[in-house]
Parts: sequence; C-alpha cells; structure tokens
Amino acid sequence: MKLYTLFFIALGMISCHGEQKQIQVSAPVAPTPYVCVEADAYNQDSAFAFVKKQCDFGPRVPNTKQHDACAAYLVSELQRLGAEVIEQKAVVTAFDGTKLNANNIIGTFFPEKENRVIFFSHWDSRPFCDHDPDKGNHKKSVMGANDGASGVGVLLELARLMQQKEPKMGVDIVFFDAEDYGAPYFFNGNADNDWCLGSQYWSKHVHYMIKPKFGVLLDMVGAENPTFCVDKVSAMYAQTAVSRIWGRAQEMGYEKFFIPQLEGSIMDDHYYVNVGTGIPTADIIDFNSERGFPTMWHTMNDTPENISPATLGMVGRLLTSLIY
Ligand SMILES: [Zn+2]
Repeated sequence: MKLYTLFFIALGMISCHGEQKQIQVSAPVAPTPYVCVEADAYNQDSAFAFVKKQCDFGPRVPNTKQHDACAAYLVSELQRLGAEVIEQKAVVTAFDGTKLNANNIIGTFFPEKENRVIFFSHWDSRPFCDHDPDKGNHKKSVMGANDGASGVGVLLELARLMQQKEPKMGVDIVFFDAEDYGAPYFFNGNADNDWCLGSQYWSKHVHYMIKPKFGVLLDMVGAENPTFCVDKVSAMYAQTAVSRIWGRAQEMGYEKFFIPQLEGSIMDDHYYVNVGTGIPTADIIDFNSERGFPTMWHTMNDTPENISPATLGMVGRLLTSLIY
C-alpha cells in the first residue's frame, strides 16, 4: 500500500509544480510473490502470430483494399473468440481534406457484467514513413507491426484466454481506425486535431450500455527493451488506472520496463477518450524523452522482424492479471 500512497503523493506534487519530472517510488515490499495463473497462460507466441497475420495483409492504410481485408479478418477473429462485434463505420476528414472510410472495430465480452474495463489500440497504419533515414521512403506506407498491430495482437491473445476462462471483469475491446493519418512535415497547410480520427469519432458516439470503470490504451507495445513511462495526459486524467497498471507491473517484476516516471505529454487516442467520455484511460506507450519513440517509429523498419514476443507477453500478462 505504501507504494501506491507514495505514488499518489508524487503525482499530486507534479500537478501542483509542473517542473518536477521524476516520480520517486519506493521498492515494493512484497511479502508473498504475486501469482496469477491466468496470466501464466498468456501465450506470447500466439500474440506474435496475431501481429504477423495483420502485417501479412500489408500496410493497413484507410481507403486501401489491404485495410478492408484486415478489417474483415479482425471482425471474424473477435467473433470467433466470443465477442459481440460492432463495426462503427464513419467517414472522417484527413488533414488534406481526403475523406477516409474509417472503421472502429469493437468487441464486447461478457456484456452482462457491471464491473467493466475497456482496452484500446489503433489498427490502422500510417501512410508516410516520414521518419525514415532515407528521404526517398517518406511517402511510402508504414507496415505498422509495432505502431498498430502490436496492441491489437496483444488484445486478440487476451480474447483467446477469455474464451477459455471467464474473467472477473467484463471487457470491451476497441480497435480504433485512422489514428496515424496526421499531417506529415511536408504538408504545407494548416492541420488541427488531425491525428486519432477514429477515437475522436468514437468518443462522440460511444457504443457501450454500461460505462467501463477505467481504460487502457496500448500503442507500440512490441519493441525489444521498451520503456513504458507515464505520460502527462495519463497522469492528469487517469491517476487510479496509472497506479493500478504501474503498481501491478512492479508486483509482477516488470519494473525495469514499466517505469513510474513522468515522460512527455502524448497526444494519443487516450486524450480523446479521457476528454470525450470521462473514462479514466492510461496509455501504455513506448516512449522516453532521451530517445523518443522506438527507432523503428514511422520508418520502413516497423516490421514483424523487429517485434519482440517477450514484450508482447509482458504487456499481455499484465492486462490478464488486471481482469482476472
Ligand atoms: Zn504512429
């Protein structure tokens, strides 16, 4: 309990004095090792196979046939794994005026349960490798193995476990579309709110009947040696979720990767969820201020070869323990 108390105090101090960056957390005193048998059943190779399968379609850029083929696959997988599935289709407008046929894919598990959590990840891939070292690649699409497919893969494996054994909590899974269509540096016009188009739409048209207690967004959860720090948006809107996630990570021995330290203010789907719906939602995203996002980010190297099943497994086991 001390860990959590200190954590809250530390976060509180940050909201009062914006300059402080480090969150000091005492090492947890664990009298008994944390055990979750369901988490042990989480199969990281299966999660990786779900990542690979999405990439086999090619980059999933809105308004392409690869995108639509992958959507059909995600719908059928969620149904096969026991979810009630909604395809929330919407036409959204990109930075350059292009109308995108977006599809937020939603799976509801155990809809009768009152105590619910909601997990999010975006499933689309970016149309521009605008951080690739080779400028000639800047107008090519990102494969999005990490930036897109990794979070979805982790959640599909979680769905597979839920089909085998009912968790304590009800679970909603939302795969957001059109997260990664923000203006590239070579666009000369004005762009505003141009990222996270699918989550912006969903936040105004939520699907659920029972409001989930808290939310977790997964974004770039597949690189080797990740640093999952706490971004300022998560700390500001979702302190309880942050404490649960980073506290549980410490209990599970993941403290090297889940670092309870404030790093960056990240404009991601969780911002629109928090502001639009009031579901306190934290972002598990691989970022630190020293290197930024993983080096494969928005490059041609964001491919399955650079995905670590061990990282997928760590994130998956953590989420599994939260719902069981
Ligand atoms: Zn991205």
